[in-house]
Amino acid sequence: MRLVLLGPPGVGKGTQAVRLSKRLGVPHISTGDMFREALAKKTALGLSAKEYMDSGKLVPNETTIGLVRDRLENPDCSRGFILDGFPRDVAQAEALKKILKSLGVSLDAAVYIDAGPDIVVKRITGRRVCEGCGATYHMTFNPPPEDGKCPKCGGRIYQRVDDREDTVRERLKVYKALTEPVVDYYEGVGILRTVNGEEDANEVLAAIISMI
Ligand code: ADP
Ligand code: AMP
Repeated sequence: MRLVLLGPPGVGKGTQAVRLSKRLGVPHISTGDMFREALAKKTALGLSAKEYMDSGKLVPNETTIGLVRDRLENPDCSRGFILDGFPRDVAQAEALKKILKSLGVSLDAAVYIDAGPDIVVKRITGRRVCEGCGATYHMTFNPPPEDGKCPKCGGRIYQRVDDREDTVRERLKVYKALTEPVVDYYEGVGILRTVNGEEDANEVLAAIISMI
């Protein structure tokens, strides 16, 4: 199964991608996670992405598209993948089409997880992430332990710099201007599936499974 997850920052793409990846037995590919891992290792890629990420802007396409191409060419993607956070604009969607064509495959569905702005802002500002394993928590909906250590790996749980309110506003603006047109793009292709992302995470998962 080859899926793209679409939706505003904080809507729950990563949460659903982790579950779908387990359920379908295909890798979860998050470009945001790839950039954060590169930054933690202080590689040239990570350091070049940092200023864009911290200010809520998109990392330039020449960097991002090459990164995704290399990842999709990895043999572990031969049975499928869940793309989370890519494509982020129409040029990336066109590039993805070419990459998949060169691999002789195509997308099965683009799943659009939809939710209103108030819900998205609440989810994104309450998000906390484990530095070690990337597990995601939420101060209200799935609170981390009081000692701030991840129950899964013992890593430190922190708030992403770009999840603070001023950067969140910029990210939502970028989403509206550049990423929302990707939803229309996949509608035009005829593979868009929309789910209500305002429900509980288990219900969102069930809705996605029943659609794909
Ligand atoms: P995205 O990958 O779209 O940016 P995440 O999956 O990281 O979003 O989710 C953002 C925050 O919202 C996280 O703290 C997560 O635990 C929480 N969350 C995700 N889905 C739901 C849901 N259906 N209901 C309540 N909280 C959710
Ligand atoms: P995310 O983890 O998906 O919220 O992404 C965090 C940040 O990483 C974004 O605000 C961008 O700066 C960068 N990023 C992630 N995916 C992409 C992408 N497909 N294109 C450009 N920048 C990206």
